[in-house]
Amino acid sequence: MNVGKSILSPTSHALIVEARIVNRNKLDVLILGAGAAGLMAAIEAGRRGRRVAALERAERPGKKILISGGGRCNFTNLHTQPGNFLSANPHFAKSALACYTPADFIRLVERHGVAYHEKTLGQLFCDGSARQIVDLLMRDCAAAGVRVVLSTPVSEVRRDDSSGAFSIVAGKEVFTAPALIVATGGLSIPKIGATEFGYDIARQFLIPIEPCRPALVPLTLSGAEHTHFSRLAGISAPVIVTCGKQSFQEKLLFTHRGLSGPAILQISSYWNKPDSMRRDSIKVDWAPAQHLLAPLLEPKAPRDLSAVRAALRAQLPARLADQLTEIAAPRNFTNRALDELERSLHSFAFTPIGTEGYEKAEVTAGGVSTSALSAQTMESRAVRGLYFIGETVDVTGHLGGFNFQWAWASGAAAGRAV
Ligand SMILES: Cc1cc2nc3c(=O)[nH]c(=O)nc-3n(C[C@H](O)[C@H](O)[C@H](O)COP(=O)(O)OP(=O)(O)OC[C@H]3O[C@@H](n4cnc5c(N)ncnc54)[C@H](O)[C@@H]3O)c2cc1C
Repeated sequence: MNVGKSILSPTSHALIVEARIVNRNKLDVLILGAGAAGLMAAIEAGRRGRRVAALERAERPGKKILISGGGRCNFTNLHTQPGNFLSANPHFAKSALACYTPADFIRLVERHGVAYHEKTLGQLFCDGSARQIVDLLMRDCAAAGVRVVLSTPVSEVRRDDSSGAFSIVAGKEVFTAPALIVATGGLSIPKIGATEFGYDIARQFLIPIEPCRPALVPLTLSGAEHTHFSRLAGISAPVIVTCGKQSFQEKLLFTHRGLSGPAILQISSYWNKPDSMRRDSIKVDWAPAQHLLAPLLEPKAPRDLSAVRAALRAQLPARLADQLTEIAAPRNFTNRALDELERSLHSFAFTPIGTEGYEKAEVTAGGVSTSALSAQTMESRAVRGLYFIGETVDVTGHLGGFNFQWAWASGAAAGRAV
């Protein structure tokens, strides 16, 4: 007997449909944001039999993964260590990083048959495209029974005081769950939808936030430094760049606005940290471990500006050599003056006036304070059932696959705990 159709009035049928929808939106775990961290948390929680929905404002998941690593996604780094991360508490990331390692993510990539290669310094990239990483995460979400709900910007989070359950308002729908994982990312690249929402939720629940700033970002110059170096836009050189006690040996790239390239992106995360009292200078060694002016010290070698230029041209890109000769030209060519010039070429100071901001930053430094979270689970110490993961948290990786490794590790930590 077909009971359903014959005895239900249109109104009661609608009520049952609505009840089913409402039931569908009652979950064990809600995840805000289907980026790297959110998808990983969803997979881990779904595999443990939790009913999970990941709510994503964009029309597709993992948009940042898609644009990462020049479209090839530098998905991890073989040499990941806690020292590759900045945080007000440098110890915080240790536990999560130890429980979900680069080898774990590599196993996942290999299980899905995605070919990859090490580009340099332990950085692993897809041979094909970053899309393969999003696809494999989505396949594992489906296998774990996770619902990924797209085009669903979450606008409101409430918590029931008596039950502790969270209600999420997203578009016209309301979702509820006893556990809420905030994985809405940081502020970098607003044009692909970065929002402050994760920090708003932290503020709403009185969870402290470390001051945010753009990181892994080009630095800008002004005045004479800009005039001298903007004409070198497009030229790059391998250097050691230092700010305070931190140094990186990678390439520096001149831009129309200032300085970029991996060396500068790396040091930018350490430049003008919130505890800096004044604008930091950065120091550049243009020719690490080389004696640039050695040819001038040879017996009977000519000692003049042309000889300096020729010596620099032998080791550096020609236009950079010419520019440095013009700026640093000594008044005379005594041994002492040449020594001083040599020293200055290994410790050439710039005082950037700023960064190119969140529009160009790969990540946001600062964020939800680790002092408020469990390092094992990412759960708020004060608000049970509320978790923060990925870039929203005050843990920022160096350039080279470390930020994704943090997203996977913090996502796995929360997904295994909810
Ligand atoms: C150009 C670029 C290249 C990069 N390349 C690399 C790389 O090669 N290797 C590396 O390790 N790192 C790289 N990064 C950094 C890396 O992309 C991030 O660290 C990582 O994506 C952070 O993951 P997440 O899940 O925390 O945040 P995200 O990946 O930013 O995900 C957050 C998600 O939350 C969604 N969201 C935001 N607000 C809401 C809301 N209110 N409701 C619902 N959903 C919401 C967003 O749409 C987004 O999908 C790169 C970053 C950029 C910008």
